[in-house]
Amino acid sequence: MDFTLPEQAEAFRREVRAFLEQELPQGWAGLALGGIGSAEGWELHKRMAAKLAARNWIALHWPRAYGGQERSYYEQMVFKEEMGYFRAPGIDGWATNMLAPVLMLYGSEEQKREHLRPIARAERYWCQGYSEPQAGSDLASLQTRAVREGDFFVINGQKTWTTNAHHSDWIFMGVRTDPEAPKHKGITFILADLRTPGITIRPIMDLAGHHEVNEVFFDNVRVPTRNVVGEVNRGWYVMAALLDFERSGIGQIGGATRALEEIIEFGRTAKLDGRRLRDDPRLRHKLAELRVELEVARVMSYRIGWMQSNGQVPNREASENKLFSSEFTQRMYNVAMQMLGLYGQLPTKGKWSKLNGRVSDQYLVTVPVTIYAGSSEIQRNIIAQRGLGLPRG
Ligand SMILES: Cc1cc2nc3c(=O)[nH]c(=O)nc-3n(C[C@H](O)[C@H](O)[C@H](O)COP(=O)(O)OP(=O)(O)OC[C@H]3O[C@@H](n4cnc5c(N)ncnc54)[C@H](O)[C@@H]3O)c2cc1C
Repeated sequence: MDFTLPEQAEAFRREVRAFLEQELPQGWAGLALGGIGSAEGWELHKRMAAKLAARNWIALHWPRAYGGQERSYYEQMVFKEEMGYFRAPGIDGWATNMLAPVLMLYGSEEQKREHLRPIARAERYWCQGYSEPQAGSDLASLQTRAVREGDFFVINGQKTWTTNAHHSDWIFMGVRTDPEAPKHKGITFILADLRTPGITIRPIMDLAGHHEVNEVFFDNVRVPTRNVVGEVNRGWYVMAALLDFERSGIGQIGGATRALEEIIEFGRTAKLDGRRLRDDPRLRHKLAELRVELEVARVMSYRIGWMQSNGQVPNREASENKLFSSEFTQRMYNVAMQMLGLYGQLPTKGKWSKLNGRVSDQYLVTVPVTIYAGSSEIQRNIIAQRGLGLPRG
């Protein structure tokens, strides 16, 4: 089997690397703790997004009619991998990787014209209003209500865990438009401007002490009916298609590659309390195992790109990819924490801190990766039912 990518993709990889080496600050190790959730992180994210937009790299593989470059999926894939490897901010994943492909599939021409170009130009940022206090894994039980009044839907209810809502301009969401219908059949997918009166956004602080997620409240919020994507009461299918795009990402692998390289290099060279880490055969074994797993995760991600380049929509493959790469990332930071012992708990740069003081933060930050975008249990259910053909439990 030949795992090499087309030369055009590898040439583009070199171009992206050169760009990132030039544009990111000297000695760049990634955003400060708190990521794009913090005010400084967000400013940097927007500055980088503007530079990417100037090269039209946000919309790499979109059709030219919507402002894209019609580059191949492989080029899109190496772009994401390098952005992840360099820990570069600048891509609004909710807009570019999730909403945009769904608008191309289900949106009206008017919606495509209204939203795709501002995404490609990094002028409009998006968040995802799926989860509610009583609807997470069982998303179809969502209760946020939308009642039609003329040319508007009036929305009341609450979304939760809404990442980046505090920086976003718009939200795409599922709302219940027919409470009498079976739960999957009474949902509508709608787009709302977050400046509309009646919307309140409140922060939720996470385990690591950062502000990334929010609660979003809707109190008689009037949203034009022309903002419905697809058909009224058939929004479940649009929401599900978007989830497949969400779970197909490869950026995580680029980031994990960089992190594992740093962890292995530390294990190879460092001494802690007079003890050379490389002399511990258990640690050597664990690191080797992680290195092998990383390659497995990479190949799984490439497979998604290959499917997309053949016009297929990955479904259980996207779940396999999400499940393996998210659990791998947790295993990796677990080993890193064990390797550093008490030093791992020093969170910021300083005399005693190791690996830029990032390990303990990442150990905490990666706890929810097996929850968001569908928990590991939900991914296993999808793989069991749609991949292995097993009956519903
Ligand atoms: C950091 C973070 C960011 C997020 N960002 C967003 C966002 O931007 N937008 C958004 O809409 N949502 C977001 N979410 C919400 C996320 O999608 C949900 O948390 C997730 O779907 C799980 O739902 P829940 O929290 O309600 O848990 P529950 O659904 O209540 O699940 C609780 C536990 O039960 C298990 N479980 C549930 N059902 C089954 C089943 N059928 N079979 C086996 N096990 C099951 C789950 O795996 C889990 O372990 C985010 C969450 C986090 C933690």
